[in-house]
Amino acid sequence: MEEIRNEKGGVSVSTENIFPVIKQWLYSEKEIFLREIVSNACDAVTKHKRLVSLSEAEESAEPYRITVRADKELKTLTVSDNGIGMTAEEIKKYICQIALSGALDFIEKYEGKDASGGGIIGHFGLGFYSAFMVADTVDVISRSFTGAPAVKWTCEDAGSYEFSPAEREGRGTDIVMHINSDNEEYLSDYKLKEILDKYCAFMPVEIYYESAELDKKAEEAAKDKKEGEEAEDVTPKPINDVSPLWLKNPSECTEEEYTEFYRKVFGDYREPLFHIHINADYPLNFKGILYFPKLNHEFDNMEGQVKLYYNQVFVADNIKEVIPEYMLMLKGVLDCPDMPLNVSRSYLQSNGYVSKITAHIAKKVTDKLNSFMNTDREKYEKLWSDIKLFVEYACLRDRKFYDKAKTAILFEKTDGKMVTPEEYLEKAKEKHENTVYYTTDKTAQAQYLAMFDSAEIEVVVLDKIIDTQFVQLLEQDKNVKFTRIDSEIASALKGDGEQMESKELEELFKKVSGNEKLTVKFESLKDASVPAVLNVSEQSRRFDDMMKMYAMGGEGAAMGSMIEETLILNSGNSLIRKLAENPSESVAKHLYTLTLLSSRKLTADELKSFLKSSFDMLESTF
Ligand code: ADP
Repeated sequence: MEEIRNEKGGVSVSTENIFPVIKQWLYSEKEIFLREIVSNACDAVTKHKRLVSLSEAEESAEPYRITVRADKELKTLTVSDNGIGMTAEEIKKYICQIALSGALDFIEKYEGKDASGGGIIGHFGLGFYSAFMVADTVDVISRSFTGAPAVKWTCEDAGSYEFSPAEREGRGTDIVMHINSDNEEYLSDYKLKEILDKYCAFMPVEIYYESAELDKKAEEAAKDKKEGEEAEDVTPKPINDVSPLWLKNPSECTEEEYTEFYRKVFGDYREPLFHIHINADYPLNFKGILYFPKLNHEFDNMEGQVKLYYNQVFVADNIKEVIPEYMLMLKGVLDCPDMPLNVSRSYLQSNGYVSKITAHIAKKVTDKLNSFMNTDREKYEKLWSDIKLFVEYACLRDRKFYDKAKTAILFEKTDGKMVTPEEYLEKAKEKHENTVYYTTDKTAQAQYLAMFDSAEIEVVVLDKIIDTQFVQLLEQDKNVKFTRIDSEIASALKGDGEQMESKELEELFKKVSGNEKLTVKFESLKDASVPAVLNVSEQSRRFDDMMKMYAMGGEGAAMGSMIEETLILNSGNSLIRKLAENPSESVAKHLYTLTLLSSRKLTADELKSFLKSSFDMLESTF
């Protein structure tokens, strides 16, 4: 058996700068030290389990467990496990040499690089030595499963260490961190529980949290307990769930379990719309559950939350290098045990593994949408308004997603019913082949809508900003044209009444509109009651919309300037005919403004002058 003598040592020359660097580095992510130490403890347990399964170690007499214990008076934070343990030789090898050189490599590579962005590189690699971000001295007390005597190794952040014999009941390791005065918050129950909850909630070994303070409180509570009172259940409970739902076979999970898991992990008490359980093991090994949360408004809650895990250890939220950007609107967990660690963002971006993950997730999502569409159309239609934004955005961001999702796209018609683009076009074949008519605002475009209704032409509602871009994608892919109902007179709206011409009237309307570029045309409309309609060219309006979107709120600047408008005078309308016989500037002006009004809101100046001329007109009728 190995004899343990008191032995002193010092870290070698090349390592003398490690502690100051560790202390300063990743300042904002200090709390990860606890994850590193606890996941080492988990690994130690896993190693012991493996040795038992290989019959190289005796079965554990007691359950495996990890204890995190804080003591404010002693200023210590201790992580204990009953895993494999280490001999003095192993501490020397694994902690003094391998871990140290690993930490050095890591620091050398990333020191001075921007870690503040919270990228993936900030999340792995320091391991054991990250404890020195919060502690001046760390003791490792360990007893190997082999029966070698327990040993204590004490390391100071000045770079010196010391071995001494120790006492320890049973196999395992205690990592005692002597928290320095700058970091006393890491002794608070609240803070520590918060960190454990964030990083260790699904680690595979039961973790118990204890503290001297909680012990005191429990003692006092026991003292205060009156006789006859029922004893409170004081059985300690682990802070983590060792077998999270994502590891289970999807066929063994119930809807309730999915909802409960969602609520627990995301603290969101609304029901998610639906979920996708990913359980891939070959050739890709990753598991996870993605939820579609309910979005209230177009931009509400766009930022979802996808938590990334590495073998049940939390890494970070919303890592753009691993999860496609458009998926970040979702909520969920992904566990990627094969994820390459200790790597830079650019490596991750160009890494084949990551793009395969992206493709796999996209496929799973589109499969789900299609299966919904094909097996439960009614339910899918109900969901559509909630997922539409996500689907359209994802289609715009990822062509492959679009190719797979395009069979699961719906449009809402003005009557509230849903159709697929194919269904719409099939019906449109005779009256308006390959053209989809749409409205962006049922109220503002009511006059046009009434004309389409009476001609029995279906109109879909595309009232979201993203719709404009989305329909362009469809136009590029399919033989289809999207036309807003106020942009042209559909041939089905045209009547077969007498045509007329009047240069004089055309000039008059041009003049009263104050718009040099306005085109004035005569057309016989089916609906004789409408004197005139204003058409806005689809292309110029889309361009204008786009400019407005880029200007974001800088309205006015683009307003009207680019838009090509055509005033259609209905040759079948009696007012127009009268006006042609007897042109009147004030009537033309009034008529033009009313036509404008049925197409859009008036500007303040337009409204003021319209009201004034209306009052004058009223007065003149007496
Ligand atoms: P990593 O975990 O990435 O290997 P660390 O610096 O965290 O690097 O740890 C270095 C090594 O020290 C581990 O690989 C392991 O062999 C050993 N070790 C650390 N903590 C423990 C522990 N609680 N029990 C047993 N061995 C440990």
